[in-house]
Amino acid sequence: MFSTLRRSILPLVVICCSVALSSAQDHKEEYPTVPAQEALKTLLEGNTRFVSGKPQHPHEARDWRENLEKGQHPFAVVIGCSDSRVPPELVFDQGFGDIFVIRVAGNVVDTDVIASVEYAVDHLDTKLILVMGHTSCGAVEATLAHLNDPDGEPAEIVSLLYQIEPAVIGIDNNLPKEEMTNKVISRNVELAVRRLSRTPDVRRSINSGDIKIQGAIYNMHTGKVQLQN
Ligand SMILES: [Zn+2]
Repeated sequence: MFSTLRRSILPLVVICCSVALSSAQDHKEEYPTVPAQEALKTLLEGNTRFVSGKPQHPHEARDWRENLEKGQHPFAVVIGCSDSRVPPELVFDQGFGDIFVIRVAGNVVDTDVIASVEYAVDHLDTKLILVMGHTSCGAVEATLAHLNDPDGEPAEIVSLLYQIEPAVIGIDNNLPKEEMTNKVISRNVELAVRRLSRTPDVRRSINSGDIKIQGAIYNMHTGKVQLQN
């Protein structure tokens, strides 16, 4: 269900953005490129504001939004889960045009997601890519449930769960349920970072020191985003 929906939407997004590309590039000169480390610092500072209950809700005013008609210059890509409880713009206290968000259940990195990342890196000059999983992830829980009981889900959902299943390999299934789920959530982010890093176009940018890919977990209880090593 999820992948079908994204595939039907993405071409529209890319076509739309490519039409606007020349004006976006003209506009780019007004905005300096944000290095990856600075982008990460900005995200974490926003998360600190969010956790402390003092968000600024920046970049929401009408004049700011009107200015964005000239083009977008997001300083970070965030690949997150579709879960309604984990909206990256709120978690990082960012506004319109700040972050290029790609959301899919289980924050899996498939071809469409990679294409979206490449668009942001190649055409929007975004230097930081954050892959963010989260505690209590229903997609990971569904994957574990499906391994125990393979019946009951439609083929499209099973296809999505297959992409999460590699994260279960090597994890002790005698662990308490919550501990095992958290380990799979963390491993799923690691594998997503690895897959993205191995994509030729992305790897070239990493090797040249041009971009950084970072894994992270959002803790639904505390609101805090913890970076992975
Ligand atoms: Zn999730």
